[in-house]
Amino acid sequence: MTTPQSKEALAKETLGFQAEVRELLKLMIHSLYSHREIFLRELISNASDANDKLRFEALSRPELMAGDAELAVWIEANAAAGTLTIRDNGIGMSREEAVSNLGTIARSGTAEFFKKLSGDQQKDSQLIGQFGVGFYSGFIVADRVTVETRRAGLPANEGVRWESAADGDFTVENIDLEQRGTKIVLHLKDDAKEFVDSWRLRSLVRRYSDHIAFPVRMPKEGEASLAYEAVNRGTALWARAKSDIKDDEYREFFEYLSHGAGEPLAWSHNRVEGKRDYTSLLYIPSAAPFDLWQRDGARGLKLYVRRVFIMDDAEQFLPLYLRFVKGVVDSADLPLNVSRELLQADSEVEAMRGALTRRVLEMLGKLAKDEPEKYRAFWREFGAVLKEGLAEDHGNQEKLLPLLRFASTNGEGDAEGVSLADYVARMQTGQDKIYYVVGESLAAARSHPAIEGLRARNIEVLLLGRRIDAWVMDHLQAFEGKKLKDASRGDLELGELASAADKEKTEAQLSESAALLKRVKESLGERVSEVRVSSRLKDSAAVLVAAEHDMSAPLRRALAAAGQEAPAGKPVLELNVDHHVVKYLEQRSQDAEFGDLALVLYEQAMLAEGEQLPDPGAFVQRLNKLWMRLQ
Ligand code: ADP
Ligand code: MG
Repeated sequence: MTTPQSKEALAKETLGFQAEVRELLKLMIHSLYSHREIFLRELISNASDANDKLRFEALSRPELMAGDAELAVWIEANAAAGTLTIRDNGIGMSREEAVSNLGTIARSGTAEFFKKLSGDQQKDSQLIGQFGVGFYSGFIVADRVTVETRRAGLPANEGVRWESAADGDFTVENIDLEQRGTKIVLHLKDDAKEFVDSWRLRSLVRRYSDHIAFPVRMPKEGEASLAYEAVNRGTALWARAKSDIKDDEYREFFEYLSHGAGEPLAWSHNRVEGKRDYTSLLYIPSAAPFDLWQRDGARGLKLYVRRVFIMDDAEQFLPLYLRFVKGVVDSADLPLNVSRELLQADSEVEAMRGALTRRVLEMLGKLAKDEPEKYRAFWREFGAVLKEGLAEDHGNQEKLLPLLRFASTNGEGDAEGVSLADYVARMQTGQDKIYYVVGESLAAARSHPAIEGLRARNIEVLLLGRRIDAWVMDHLQAFEGKKLKDASRGDLELGELASAADKEKTEAQLSESAALLKRVKESLGERVSEVRVSSRLKDSAAVLVAAEHDMSAPLRRALAAAGQEAPAGKPVLELNVDHHVVKYLEQRSQDAEFGDLALVLYEQAMLAEGEQLPDPGAFVQRLNKLWMRLQ
């Protein structure tokens, strides 16, 4: 399978790092002083990945394992030389692979990554792990890194030595290597010599490797000869009995799995036996990854089949709206040669996805109930993602509804802490709807004219201010038999809340204002479908509302912003006939400026609702004309 190589191809070359890598290396070298030990987690993780990959490839090509079938990782410090060595007997790299894997960043989103860097040591070191640039983290502690590697299946003379002092270049050359796999030698910086300390090293190695599926071997204490002992269990954590696993071990495993994304908020470890046989270990992280909102951001679970690692980011096991979940699924039924395409079409996978989805929703339900503080933290980070489920997963709406949290007129500030159950418990006598309003921001929702009347009646209104809200709220019908009602659309449906006096007043206003309404409608023409007396307003003079079955204005704007054609339903203009501005307008019914006044009223309503004016310049002129009259 290998072609004899020419002299030139074997020669030593010096190559430049990709620009992004250079930038990253600068970061590693100059600005990470705390949490430096993460380099060890990353290099152990790479060694374990390399063993995983070999085990997988060897399924179809057993000869790759030849003569060296016990996969492991070795870690060794040499105090005299000031070096730390991490070695595996996994898949290894060819010369070409070494050049591209250790000289470039293959992933997309590099720009995003650099944008997210904050200068905060803790946060940035977490980012580095998430971004999957673990190899370069060796340069946090080393001023020179030497890699010797041989791809499984290649002959001994196709070993590769890669070396760099992170000064912009690296060298590669072919060397003879007896063994396959990869050895990474870190030439420690003067201020990083602590990592040769055997006690410190052992405790770190244990922390980062106790749950990986391979033995990690270190030289036996106090023995001069080359005797090694395993310092970890070498069993995959999820394969152990739940009762046997400590909380700290679950946390450490999460740290390993997530490349240091902090503490998990919750986890759920389950074994399913019977018709289907699989184990899952699912985590809710406490912090969102930098690429949560990127289309091609990494998501999904680590997939194993009978302990054999198959792939990272298997996104078929959870719906998109649960993309924040991290974890492992290990199936006993799937074929070892399963591919992403096969996963997509597989009905078993579909069934597992359903079960895992329910498991996550139940875990969140439990968190909300038992640890509301943590649930609040969850909601802050991931609430907007979870909400997508309302639109995407109608089947689980019953489970999702109790998980929602809102800002409301009942409280100040932006905190989203009100559940639908809280709302229902506080409903007024006679109230049978759950009112909400969506604005361009939370502040805009809070001062939305359409909810003035509700507030005046002491009726709580849920406030929403995110782009996605207009879309997801449209998918909500009812909670515990109470209809969810958009306060800016159709009739308010106050039902029993509107007193007899209210009704009488409206009727009277209707007949009194009939002429004014007609005149305003004539002035505004096709801009509105109707002009009517409002029961929604208190302090504002006018409000625009959508017809009950028309698309809401925020949704139309969101679609337009996404470049989608949205049907332009005509809004209804509602007037507050008690308002002095409307009264003034009425007095001017016969004047030439009536048209301008009516238009300004309409334009105000557009602005208050979050709409852009089609001709802001003309609006300003109209306003100034009115202003001049005040003199
Ligand atoms: P990631 O592990 O997320 O891919 P890294 O920066 O940690 O990113 O590693 C980059 C790449 O270098 C890996 O994807 C792998 O192809 C290669 N690599 C790193 N370490 C090893 C190793 N010990 N054995 C084989 N390949 C390795
Ligand atoms: Mg890595």
